Amino acid sequence: MEPAVQRLEPQRSRLHAPDPGRRVETRPRYSLAVDEFALKVLAWYRRHGRHDLPWQVPDPYVRWLAEVMLQQTTVTAVIPYFQRFLAAFPSVRALAQASQDEVLAQWAGLGYYARARHLHAAARVITEHYGDGFPRTADAWAALPGVGPSTAAAIVAFAFGVPAPILDANVRRVLSRYHAVSGRDARALRTLWTHARDHTPTHEVAAYTQAIMDLGALVCRKAPDCAACPVAAGCAFEGEDAPTVRRARPERAVFMAVIRDPARGVLLVRRPSHGIWGGLWSLPESVELDDLPAVVAALGVDGRMGMACAPVHHTFTHFRLTITPILVEGVSQAFGVAEHHDVMWYKGDGSGPGMPAPIRRLLNQFLEVP
Ligand code: SF4
Repeated sequence: MEPAVQRLEPQRSRLHAPDPGRRVETRPRYSLAVDEFALKVLAWYRRHGRHDLPWQVPDPYVRWLAEVMLQQTTVTAVIPYFQRFLAAFPSVRALAQASQDEVLAQWAGLGYYARARHLHAAARVITEHYGDGFPRTADAWAALPGVGPSTAAAIVAFAFGVPAPILDANVRRVLSRYHAVSGRDARALRTLWTHARDHTPTHEVAAYTQAIMDLGALVCRKAPDCAACPVAAGCAFEGEDAPTVRRARPERAVFMAVIRDPARGVLLVRRPSHGIWGGLWSLPESVELDDLPAVVAALGVDGRMGMACAPVHHTFTHFRLTITPILVEGVSQAFGVAEHHDVMWYKGDGSGPGMPAPIRRLLNQFLEVP
């Protein structure tokens, strides 16, 4: 039988004197024994956690791919992309041997494309330095492009059973509430890493790592379901998170030229490898409408700026983008534009090259136009 857990009352002290304007905590006011936290989370996980996710196999390549895809993206959104990507690149060697275009094409629509570029670069480092093997420590994983300390810890815990603390967004929410750590500064983060380390068991590491992630995703959500939480008895959460300052997203706007050739489709250009949608294929663009004719002329296309079509909006983490497509009319030289590394014609056939999802949607409209 599980030992009865006594609900501990808050230990008020001068350090924690009520101060309605401020919630800065430096140490827990409530606590269960550290091991008890892990034991309770594990017991809850056995009954209520997720056990059938497609990446729940002890394979470092699979776990690495899944952890990178899950950065800033939900499980539900990731599953179909994960399955397609793994089918296209079933091993780290297959990924390393692919071109960046092929990798971005499989990633297109999942967003945060730097993840795909880093994954590809890291695959090449792994095959070069580890042959058919993989790094075995969290530090070695964290040295690879696109792998932070929490992702590295999750990979070694899942793939090799190595005890390493994780602190992704879900775990951060659980631990900051449980231990009443407020703030997002470096000091708060250090405190949370210490708690994460203290709670991580040396046995059943893979199960615990999934369990604490699941607790954050399924129970300790933005609106927490404390009645269903296995560690509620020791939790310091008082019903309200410290307020976060939300700034309105700045607005940005671009104009994109739609250059059509009846035989070859729409002209696309490859974006620079850095910045938003880095390395993906898109329409020629300019920030100022007056600059668009020069952008089009530089591609070897004549023609005049015609009708502006309905704008398309896309929200990034830090800003909102409005794209206004401009039809280029009276084109006589488009036929002469040859494809090369950074320019291609797209007819809308097949899955096409790697394109951002809003550009693909936008193109689908134009490619239906006879
Ligand atoms: S008791 Fe509530 S706030 Fe505390 S960890 Fe559980 S779900 Fe989160």
